[in-house]
Amino acid sequence: MTLSFADLAAAVDGPVFLPADDGFAGEIFAWNVANPHRPVVAVGATSTADVAAAVRWAGRHGLPVAVQATGHGAVRPAVGCVLITTSRMQDLFVDPEARTARVAAGVRWSRVIEVAAPHGLAPLSGSSSQVGVVGYTLGGGLGLLGRTFGHAADHVRSIEIVTAGGDVRTVDADNDRELFWAVRGGKGNFGIVTAVEFDLFDVPSLTGGGIYFPATHAAQVLHAYRAWAPTLPERMNTSLALLRLPPLPQLPEPLRGAFVVHLRVAYLGDAGDAKDILAPMLAAAPVLLGGVGDLPYQAVDSIHQDPVDPTPTRERGVLLGDLTAATVDGLLAAAGPQVDVPLIMVELRHLGGALARPPAVPNAVPGRDAAYSLFVVGLGVPELAPVVDAVTGAVLAAAAGDTVAGGLMNFSGGAGPDALLANWPAADRDRLLRVKRAYDPANMFSTNQALLPTS
Ligand SMILES: Cc1cc2nc3c(=O)[nH]c(=O)nc-3n(C[C@H](O)[C@H](O)[C@H](O)COP(=O)(O)OP(=O)(O)OC[C@H]3O[C@@H](n4cnc5c(N)ncnc54)[C@H](O)[C@@H]3O)c2cc1C
Repeated sequence: MTLSFADLAAAVDGPVFLPADDGFAGEIFAWNVANPHRPVVAVGATSTADVAAAVRWAGRHGLPVAVQATGHGAVRPAVGCVLITTSRMQDLFVDPEARTARVAAGVRWSRVIEVAAPHGLAPLSGSSSQVGVVGYTLGGGLGLLGRTFGHAADHVRSIEIVTAGGDVRTVDADNDRELFWAVRGGKGNFGIVTAVEFDLFDVPSLTGGGIYFPATHAAQVLHAYRAWAPTLPERMNTSLALLRLPPLPQLPEPLRGAFVVHLRVAYLGDAGDAKDILAPMLAAAPVLLGGVGDLPYQAVDSIHQDPVDPTPTRERGVLLGDLTAATVDGLLAAAGPQVDVPLIMVELRHLGGALARPPAVPNAVPGRDAAYSLFVVGLGVPELAPVVDAVTGAVLAAAAGDTVAGGLMNFSGGAGPDALLANWPAADRDRLLRVKRAYDPANMFSTNQALLPTS
C-alpha cells in the first residue's frame, strides 16, 4: 500500500517528519542512545486529537505505533512504525486542595515537582526527574518514597488513552475497569496515554542524600546493608548500588573513574532521626564522599545522581525475596571491584512497606511480595553486547537463590514477550492478554516492551 503522508500531515496540527527531513533525527532521538529508532514517519503530537489522528492513519496503513516522551525507556529500537513523540504535550495542572496533578503525555517529573513543591506536595517520582511521568507510571513507578506511599501506579486516579482505532477513552475505577487495571503496570501495550491524573503527597520535610563508600570496603558495606535494611521503618527508603563511574572531569576526584558503593537515602522525617537510623551503615566502612541532610523535594535528583546526558544502556532486572549472605558474596564475585566488567551499575532497591500492599483500586503492578529489586545496567555498546549479556547473566545467576517470580516493567529492559509475561502469575498474565486482545486485536502497540510478538 502507498503511504499517504500528505493525508497524515493534513490530519494533525503538529509536525510530521520523514527520514529524509531536517529535524527527523532530532525528533526521534532517545536518551538511551543504545537503541536508535528507525520509524517510517515521526509525528510530533501537540494534542490528544493529534495522537488519535496519527493512530487512525497508522491503522489504515497497517503500521504499528510507537510512542516516545524522553527516550529514557527506549530499551528496544522502534522500527518500521509510526513514532508518536509527545514532548510538545506539556499541559500540567496541580490542584493543591485535592492534592492531585493532571499532566499531558510529554511532561517530565521535574515540572510536576517544581509546581507541586511550593504547596508542600510531592509526586511519587523516581531517581531522575528527567524521566517522563506517563512511561514511568505505566511501568509501575518505583519511586524515592515507594516504601512509604507505594508505587506511582497505585495512586493514579484516571487515564486518558487513545486505543487502536483512534478512540479516546477516559479510564478509571468505574470506566473501562479492565483496561484501567492493565495499563497501570502493563505499560504501553494497550494504547497511547494522552493524560494522567494522580495523587500528590504531603512531604513537609525530607532527609536525603547519597553516601559513597570506597571499593576497598565493598564487602563490608553490602553485608551491613543486608543486615540493616530489614530493620528499617517504612519512612526510610534506601537503595545500594555498585557503580563503575566514568573518568569524567565534572566528577569529584574520589569518584572519577572509580568503583564505589553508593547508599541512597530518602527518609520522610528529620535529619536527626535519619542519622540515628543510618548509624550501622556509617559504622560499616569509611565514607568516601557524601552524606544526608534536609533536602527540598526539588533537589531529590541529588540522592541517586543519575546521569542526565544521553547514555547507552543495556538493562535487566529481577526481584528478590531476600538478600542472603550467599547472594551478597555472589554479587561481589560477579560484579565487585576486583573484576573488570562493562557494567555501569548493579543496584539493589529495598522494597516492602507500602509497595507490598495492594492499592485501593487493584492494578497490574506485580511483585508485591518481593523484598528487593536487583537491576543490572550494562554499557549499551553493540560490540560489547555479548559480554554485557554474559556478565549480566552471571550477576543475576549469583542472586538466583533469592530470586522470586515477577519483575517490574521499568526494570525489565529489552526482554521479549515471553520473558515479560513471566513478570506476572498465570492468572494475571491471562487477564493482561484478554485486555490486550480486546483493546488492541491487531497488536498495533507492539514496539519496545511488547507483551505479544509481532506476527
Ligand atoms: C536515568 C533513569 C532513571 C530511572 N529511574 C526510575 C525509577 O526510579 N523508578 C522507575 O520505576 N523507573 C525508573 N526508570 C525507568 C523509567 O521509568 C522507564 O524507562 C520509563 O519507561 C521512561 O519513560 P519515558 O517516557 O521517560 O521514556 P520513553 O523512552 O519516552 O518511553 C518508554 C516507554 O514508555 C511507554 N510510554 C511512554 N509514553 C507513553 C504514552 N504516552 N502512552 C503509552 N505508553 C507510553 C512506552 O512503552 C514507551 O516505549 C529510570 C530510567 C532511567 C533511564
